[in-house]
Amino acid sequence: MSPRRPIQLLDDALIDQIAAGEVIERPASAVKELVENALDARARHIEVALEQGGLDLLEVSDDGEGISRDDLPLAIVAHATSKISTLEDLHAVSSRGFRGEALASMGAVGDLEIVTRAAGSPEAWLLEVGGGKPGVPKPTARAQGTTVRLRHLFRHVPARRKFLKSPRAECLRCEEWLDRLALSVPGVELTLRLDGRVKRQWRAGGMEARIEDVTRASGFRKGEASGSGFEVMAWVAEPACAKVNRNGQFFYYNSRPIRDRMLSQVLLQSTREFIPDRRHAVAVIHISSDPTHADVNVHPTKEEVRFDRPRDVASLVTRAVRSALAGGGYAPELISMPRPQVQEPSPSPNLPRAQRPVAENWNAPGLLGEAHASPAPSRRFMQVHGSFVVVETDEGLSILDQHALHERILLETMRRELLAGGVERQNLLIPQSLQFQPGEAAALQDLGPHLEKAGFAIEVHGSSDVLVSALPVSLSPGSLQGLLRDIVERADGISNPDDIRLLATRLCACRSAVKAGDTLEPGEIEALIRGLSEEDYSFACEHGRPTHVRIPLARLSRGFARH
Ligand code: ADP
Ligand code: MG
Repeated sequence: MSPRRPIQLLDDALIDQIAAGEVIERPASAVKELVENALDARARHIEVALEQGGLDLLEVSDDGEGISRDDLPLAIVAHATSKISTLEDLHAVSSRGFRGEALASMGAVGDLEIVTRAAGSPEAWLLEVGGGKPGVPKPTARAQGTTVRLRHLFRHVPARRKFLKSPRAECLRCEEWLDRLALSVPGVELTLRLDGRVKRQWRAGGMEARIEDVTRASGFRKGEASGSGFEVMAWVAEPACAKVNRNGQFFYYNSRPIRDRMLSQVLLQSTREFIPDRRHAVAVIHISSDPTHADVNVHPTKEEVRFDRPRDVASLVTRAVRSALAGGGYAPELISMPRPQVQEPSPSPNLPRAQRPVAENWNAPGLLGEAHASPAPSRRFMQVHGSFVVVETDEGLSILDQHALHERILLETMRRELLAGGVERQNLLIPQSLQFQPGEAAALQDLGPHLEKAGFAIEVHGSSDVLVSALPVSLSPGSLQGLLRDIVERADGISNPDDIRLLATRLCACRSAVKAGDTLEPGEIEALIRGLSEEDYSFACEHGRPTHVRIPLARLSRGFARH
């Protein structure tokens, strides 16, 4: 070991560089800070230019309010900010920056240059900071706004340089930050130039267009929820756009990008039943409130927030996400068929137009529709292979998965009943007596009271006898034992009674739904078709798989080489 060095005070420049390294870790952190400054200055156009991944040059220009000559030397002093001045301000901060560290840090880790012209000022000023030492402002020319130019990033901090990735990778990180910021300000135009060439442009417009631009997903729908002083807006892309990772998920608090494990978890939970396993919804969530309801000061780069009522925020996010997905007609197309190879299609036999396919299994249109007084128009349908139902629709045909669709309809029905007080139950004249393992029976004893609203009346006797005197109307008594076993197994580790009831209801829907192979009565099929158009979430079963697929007529015609 080398001999211990005597304790020494670090010199100021070194202290600044160490502190600066915490704020400016890599080019992307500088881009983020500078763009946030431009947004705080109410810029409408912001241009970011990078050379060599931002290491040779990193420049951000805006058309915001600018900085006056007198303020300019202050802007680059540590802890100098125009945004807060008292401790009370800190708790009500609505600007993006407020620590007054960013420009000072940049001056310590690179060669900084600011060109600015304040609104209403006749002249522009240039201030250079080399090696942490500011010069004096010099007059120059510029339109209103500010350009901050950072050259030779980390030249004086070789240790930082070592942790950087390739210029390409650093540019990608900058671009990711611009995407995140762009989603908070759809009305602001952003441009990214790499080594002189325009790489990306985020055009000013509405939120929907900006979201599609950033996420490259489509079919966004918006949901809202508010309460406890918070407002939540959720934009969720169609389930088919779901990704294998969470890169398509963006969270904001008062327009500021945030990361929050609790919120990610809530989004996962609330989309789980609409999105297939191991996929993640593409979604943008904006939470807003009076700034006093949250502490944004918990993390140096302000990506974390602490809400005063996190549980309320969580349930608002769930409500907003669910309402965004409600009523979405998301059925995927069954076949994406390549165009036929044949160039000259042979003339198709001329079938009389009015002639309808007459198969014995098709329902007679009209009869059933009137008999059941269904609000949905009567559709021609046919059950095939005991598992699927083919339905004629306006645009072509749909094929329903009878189990998946029925499961969703039952779940939504029971969920509504649950919210209204309790799932509708059937009382057994003679209670059913079931035998369980002692561990299961003990668990059922604990779960019993929570399951009452979910439609069950359960009593445990001795170490393994379970007496069931009521169960949800949709469930057949023969499925009871299996269902209760599933509930015990899956409820392990869940403590919130509402979550337990919802779980029981989900599992019950799955067990109660018609199975593949069950022959359905026409009335049952009609009920399924009705549910398809009436239920808000009829596009997915509770495992997030599609309940039906579409085949548009145009596809059929193409398949038969008709044009
Ligand atoms: P903070 O943003 O935390 O206040 P900064 O170091 O990022 O700290 O900026 C210091 C000050 O410089 C800001 O408070 C603001 O007054 C001014 N400033 C920085 N960038 C701009 C800009 N692009 N336009 C106008 N003023 C700016
Ligand atoms: Mg700032």
